[in-house]
Amino acid sequence: MELGTLGIKDIQEGLQKKTFSATELAEASFSAIREKDPKIHAFLEVTENLALEQAAAVDKKVANKEKLGALAGVPSALKDAILVKGVRATAGSRMLENYTAPYDATVVEKLKGADALLVGKTNMDEFGMGASTENSAFGVTRNPLDEERVPGGSSGGSAASVAAGEAVIALGEDTGGSIRLPASFCGLVGLKPTYGAVSRNGIIALASSLDQVGPFARTVEDCEIVFDVIRGKDPLDATSVDAQVQDPNFKIQNLRIGVPKEYFGEGLDPVVGDVIKNTLKKLEDAGAKLVEVSIPHVQYALAAYYIINTSEASANLARYDGIRYGFSKAGNTLLETYLESRGEAFGTEVKRRIMLGTYALSAGYYDAYYIKAQKVRTLLKQDFEKAFEEVDVIAGPVSPFLPFKIGEKMQDPLAMYLVDIYTVSANLTALPSLSVPAGKAENLPVGLQLMAPAFQENLLFKAGSVVEALK
Ligand code: GLN
Repeated sequence: MELGTLGIKDIQEGLQKKTFSATELAEASFSAIREKDPKIHAFLEVTENLALEQAAAVDKKVANKEKLGALAGVPSALKDAILVKGVRATAGSRMLENYTAPYDATVVEKLKGADALLVGKTNMDEFGMGASTENSAFGVTRNPLDEERVPGGSSGGSAASVAAGEAVIALGEDTGGSIRLPASFCGLVGLKPTYGAVSRNGIIALASSLDQVGPFARTVEDCEIVFDVIRGKDPLDATSVDAQVQDPNFKIQNLRIGVPKEYFGEGLDPVVGDVIKNTLKKLEDAGAKLVEVSIPHVQYALAAYYIINTSEASANLARYDGIRYGFSKAGNTLLETYLESRGEAFGTEVKRRIMLGTYALSAGYYDAYYIKAQKVRTLLKQDFEKAFEEVDVIAGPVSPFLPFKIGEKMQDPLAMYLVDIYTVSANLTALPSLSVPAGKAENLPVGLQLMAPAFQENLLFKAGSVVEALK
């Protein structure tokens, strides 16, 4: 059985008609992993026993004609920043190499409750810091569509697992593009939900005012099914809310698509720009109205993002002190224990961000950097609010480049940060954003990014389905 061609509805149907069992679906996932993962390295750990137990429970439900959950029998992969009780959660870091999660993240409880099969934990840039999955302490992940290239990051393992047909869906986490970029690079659909739409209880934090959990899938339909399972208010995450806006009267002929002029300027690889413009033209031909909009403060978004990201990361990562969690190397004094443990177990990018963030938050610089970045954030939010007075969604590229070669940007942190230029705005403004395959250039996938007002994921799925169906 090839998982790479199955969608969630095919799986539901196959289980009901007994074309295959959930156990066979789990086995199909393991056999794809055995065949492909030695090369791709999407997984840090395969949770065979857990998935087989869940599969047996689904098969029993089928035999007893009990109602099946929305993700029954669906092989699902999880970014290694998401806690699964009793399973290691490293977040791609030596610091957590031997950390076993003591409880399930809320999204994991929800997947389990929907009868999904959790097949394993996927590779990622250390603590989510990166855009290529090369910053993992446990080796790089390769792009299944071109093994010389990166899968994008930081949730690169999750994207690669679905693109390689090792899993049918996966969850990632997106602080500045970490779901949308790998989705774009691996030819998948990926959603960064509205801030607050999905609980983050049980997620290893990077930057708490930006982080969101969301799904990867091969189709918009599957992405929506997974989102519906994981979303909603959770008493264990005070930032979570129930506020979905449905769009029952959607019609492409009524859709006004905002095209920010700032998104098509300098820095955009023309071959990527052409695919995006072509897709927009086809949407126009299908009846949508294209409206040029302006997001004037977007030119400061990346700078503001890297101040806020590093500041919040430096605070969040203070908990890894060599005493309470993770790696520990005892020194002669308390300070030495901190220094030895953190010095040895954190990678270069993590150290860089802790230093940058600590600097930006320090007395004397706090106003000049952190407060200023927060002001930019407000201005950016206002730009988008203004644009959404005129349009329903905003469209543009996900990444300024095609998937790049492994090693190409590793020596140049600023070049790596620039990959995030179009994605960070959705995190800074809390808005939902979908990456949907728009076509290919040089035989590599290009993703279109669609953004909508808060809690209008439903509109993104409807518009995304139209993009998916374009020929
Ligand atoms: N490339 C971004 C960064 O390194 C993505 C982070 C993320 O979304 N986790 O900060």
